[in-house]
Amino acid sequence: MLAAGVIMTTTPLFAQFNTVMPGRTTGVSESVSLKDDDMGNRQGKAFMEGCLSEEKSAPASSGEAGKEKWVQRYLSVCYPLRKMKVNSPYGYRTDPFTGKRKFHNGIDLHARGDKVLAMMEGTVIKVGQDRASGKYVVLRHGEFTVSYCHLSRILVGKGAVVRPRDAVGITGNTGRSTGEHLHITCRRNGKSVNPAKIFNYIKTTREKCLAALAEMS
Ligand SMILES: [Zn+2]
Repeated sequence: MLAAGVIMTTTPLFAQFNTVMPGRTTGVSESVSLKDDDMGNRQGKAFMEGCLSEEKSAPASSGEAGKEKWVQRYLSVCYPLRKMKVNSPYGYRTDPFTGKRKFHNGIDLHARGDKVLAMMEGTVIKVGQDRASGKYVVLRHGEFTVSYCHLSRILVGKGAVVRPRDAVGITGNTGRSTGEHLHITCRRNGKSVNPAKIFNYIKTTREKCLAALAEMS
């Protein structure tokens, strides 16, 4: 069992990411346990590596070409916001609108008019607007789909190919939202999974690349 916040362990680059802030609403601060199920660390990581062809083999261990491969691998992943602060984790919480206990199927990140970035290579499979999600963008990364909700602006069109760090929208407060934030949901083959798994994958990928580069310099 992993506590929701524990997944985001220390990293010098994204130290602020540790700050799992309880939301303003009551109940959100209660600690939520997550079952390390079918997207468990090892299996999930192996799958994510399968999504990215360049992840299948380790870069050469020496030389400029080897360094460049580690740099490219580092750049193949990206957090969705430049500053990552979790307002509300994935799991059961008190719904801010109804006050009832309800499953929160994504992660809420603090945001203020920020660019929302593609976390890796992928395609835009849906853009739209509805009463719940507001303006939203859905990206496909292999078997995973990621949606970004409550946007103020959508910057991509359906069918577009995105690279890591491409801005796909601007955060906002559209739809069923009590204040500006970025709601991220993630599905694997249609089944809801905790987006923290992807954030953790990004963190470990980057750490691995930095360690390899440090060793080569
Ligand atoms: Zn949310």
